[in-house]
Amino acid sequence: MNIAVIGAGQMGAGIAQVAAQSGFSVMVQDIGNEYLAKGEASIEKSLARLHEKGKLSEMPAEILGRLTFTTDLTSLAHADLVVEAIVENEAAKAELFGKLGEIVKPAGILASNTSSIPITSLASASGRPEQFIGMHFMNPVPIMQLVEVIRGHKTSDETAQTVLGVAQRMGKTPLMCNDFPGFVSNRLLMPMLNEAIQCVMEGVADKEAIDGIMKLGMNHPMGPLTLADFIGLDTCLSIMEVLHKGLGDDKYRPSPLLRKMVQAGLLGRKSGEGFYRY
Ligand code: NAD
Repeated sequence: MNIAVIGAGQMGAGIAQVAAQSGFSVMVQDIGNEYLAKGEASIEKSLARLHEKGKLSEMPAEILGRLTFTTDLTSLAHADLVVEAIVENEAAKAELFGKLGEIVKPAGILASNTSSIPITSLASASGRPEQFIGMHFMNPVPIMQLVEVIRGHKTSDETAQTVLGVAQRMGKTPLMCNDFPGFVSNRLLMPMLNEAIQCVMEGVADKEAIDGIMKLGMNHPMGPLTLADFIGLDTCLSIMEVLHKGLGDDKYRPSPLLRKMVQAGLLGRKSGEGFYRY
């Protein structure tokens, strides 16, 4: 099976790496050679680390030999499965899927790694809604076990079965859900992070205590404020907005403190400061 991954960023590089490690031929597409080079370098680094730890059954060079890189979208015409991992922007994704619907062979399946954009709406943009599905990998892809598989309103049983099989062959555990705002993962996770931020705002406890209570008391590997910083506070805000708008219930309203921190450019790890300094 030929897999194509679009977007060589954090997630796309991880998905391409795991697919190549699992024996698939993988083509990676991005808009510029500099992004492809960055993605390739991060895959090489990750494979070298896994090799040192004795966690690969092949030499890194053999795995890298199954990867090709291109800026030309038409090279994806023969892909059996395309996994899109570009920026989280609905208009950009819809435009891309419109093109893929024309370019990729009729039997090809199109999948999106979106964290929050409705699968059914991207499926419509692709013009092949039966062969469209959500494949939501977790970060970092080589380590995390879950793939949340999201069926759009018209996704066929055959498409769902094929994608479950691919995820399993990639060594992942796929779990299926239907297309509602935030799917399962972010519908449960984000309100918890948002509530932790609300606790900071209301002075319920200081941030170290909030994180410590969830780590020591609930056995979470990371406290909610540390996790929000890791994900990016801008990403947390945009997902809360998707839940609030999509479900129409005020219980999903973003914390005013979250909004204010994003306005101040305090985005977490990626900007050097969020709830903590990095
Ligand atoms: P990123 O910014 O690291 O990478 C995005 C890549 O897409 C960049 O290399 C960019 O050049 C490329 N790109 C942008 N527009 C493109 C286009 N039109 N065609 C081809 N390539 C294009 O982003 P990321 O963190 O890897 O996230 C990618 C997707 O995965 C998003 O939809 C995000 O919501 C989702 N996701 C992210 C995480 C996470 O923790 N980062 C987890 C799960 C899902």
